[in-house]
Amino acid sequence: MVHAIALAVALHLSNAASVPVPTIAKAQAEVVRVYRDIGVDVEWSQPGVLRGDQPQSIHVVVIPYETGDLQQRPKTVMGAATRTPHGTRVAYVFYRRVEAEAAQYDVSPAFVLACAIAHEVGHLLLPDGFQSGHSRAGLMRACWDRDDFRRADMGQLRFLPEQALLIRARLTP
Ligand SMILES: [Zn+2]
Repeated sequence: MVHAIALAVALHLSNAASVPVPTIAKAQAEVVRVYRDIGVDVEWSQPGVLRGDQPQSIHVVVIPYETGDLQQRPKTVMGAATRTPHGTRVAYVFYRRVEAEAAQYDVSPAFVLACAIAHEVGHLLLPDGFQSGHSRAGLMRACWDRDDFRRADMGQLRFLPEQALLIRARLTP
């Protein structure tokens, strides 16, 4: 898909799970690709450069395990999307869970990490209440199965066309 207007989102990464640098770099590049596919330019900011005041900026925080309130969730998930009381949007990804899923399905942790990040950021970019953000197929499925992990590993786990439209509509100034 080719889109005329480039829409931008700034992502700030905190790697608090000691994820190896090459894995992070590969995952970041894959997130850029997934969003470029739907006409959205993702910019990863340098560590320490916080521009939280930007309207389209999201913090991506990679931690080993879910903590606190996030543990109350019924299902094992790889991440969570939240807003702070000040309105800062935060996408958490739980790296030990990413590693476990990657090992179980014999796929690359970097690609699973990328899909988990793209999924949680997707929650923050999709309109509130849109089927709680989940779809029955693609990147925004609540839980991925073996085939989804295969697609993820081949860089083919993507947003559905209607989700791409919603995200683009919300980002359009
Ligand atoms: Zn989700």
